[in-house]
Amino acid sequence: MALIVQKYGGTSMGAPDRIRNVARRVARWKAQGHQLVVVVSAMSGETNRLIALAKDVSPQPDPRELDVMVSTGEQVTIALLAMALKDLGIKAKSYTGGQVKILTDSVFTKARILDIEEAAMRRDLDNDTVVIVAGFQGVDQDGNITTLGRGGSDTSGVALAAALKADECQIYTDVDGVYTTDPRIVPHARKLERVTFEEMLEMASLGSKVLQIRSVEFAGKYKVKLRVLSSFEAEGQETDGTLITLEEDTKMEQPIISGIAFNRDEAKLTVLGVPDRPGIAYQILGPIADANIDVDMIIQNVGHDGTTDFSFTVPRGEFARAKKILEEQIRPHIGARAIEGDNTICKVSAVGVGMRSHPGIASKMFRALAEEGINIQMISTSEIKISVVVDEKYLELAVRVLHSTFGLDQVTA
Ligand code: ASP
Ligand code: MG
Repeated sequence: MALIVQKYGGTSMGAPDRIRNVARRVARWKAQGHQLVVVVSAMSGETNRLIALAKDVSPQPDPRELDVMVSTGEQVTIALLAMALKDLGIKAKSYTGGQVKILTDSVFTKARILDIEEAAMRRDLDNDTVVIVAGFQGVDQDGNITTLGRGGSDTSGVALAAALKADECQIYTDVDGVYTTDPRIVPHARKLERVTFEEMLEMASLGSKVLQIRSVEFAGKYKVKLRVLSSFEAEGQETDGTLITLEEDTKMEQPIISGIAFNRDEAKLTVLGVPDRPGIAYQILGPIADANIDVDMIIQNVGHDGTTDFSFTVPRGEFARAKKILEEQIRPHIGARAIEGDNTICKVSAVGVGMRSHPGIASKMFRALAEEGINIQMISTSEIKISVVVDEKYLELAVRVLHSTFGLDQVTA
């Protein structure tokens, strides 16, 4: 017998028959003798609808009141799932975040979980009852309802699993696992049986949207065994999804590269001919940081004749604002020759913990891109990731080529 926390996302809870489906799946796990805590999202589209409604009434809704309102989406689905389970003859009880008590700080709309009270849930579990908890919400120490940020139900699920020391946290969603890359770009993409927390974090921050980044951080920190699975597989045809593990737990025959991630949401800015002296990087990036613009990659060239070129990337939506700051605040100040910008670039990355022990991955990657005539504009690396910036028009080609170069294509017999 195991204690399992399951989380079902909005699409899995999106309609009455889907909710009954979730109930049947929960019932099957229960029938195997497991104890279950089930965390649910609002029905798909509901949170968006509520936020839009709030903004219709008040363009900049008060954050406390917004949380009171958007948390209702999950209050509906916990009750519906409990009803469906009871109809199957299974004892079930729904809890809002406040009822559990999922204690958070008071940062409305993006609160952080501080503590979870287990006593009531333990009593129910010992009494053969399925515990159903509203995702995405908590309560602060003054009793105010809070929410955890978009996609926050993943974090609710992981936090409950950590607090209860669950044997596994299963995230049920509309895809059947984590893939080597987006199957819409590479039809031969493979589902990964395992991926490490670190790789998953890189992939999530590089644009893969399977899990909320915070939930992966949380799971890594508290060593929660986390699995991504599909809630749409029929009875008898369920697969094991993707297990997200600690590096030590992965098997010997780990591939060197686990996935190719990409992000279109990028733009590049270059300050040409800046004086090559101490303080320049700070003078350029200081005002950008003050404007709350996220900078990702940064390159400064070797100086030449006392001047140098300085490039960096920002999210595409911030391109115009960043360029304006460079033109108006920075250029006159430091005496740069020109400002150039390009918002038709993208970032393509190879991710894998195996890189640590295998030299030559970067050169293999660069050769593959060169053979396709793809020019690399910027490069950045971490211990387990190599990213390149290329022209957006090469995105799909670059992803496909790297996917096959690193042996990730599905082998069909
Ligand atoms: N319902 C919330 C959202 O749409 C939380 C979640 O689904 O994870 O962001
Ligand atoms: Mg989600």
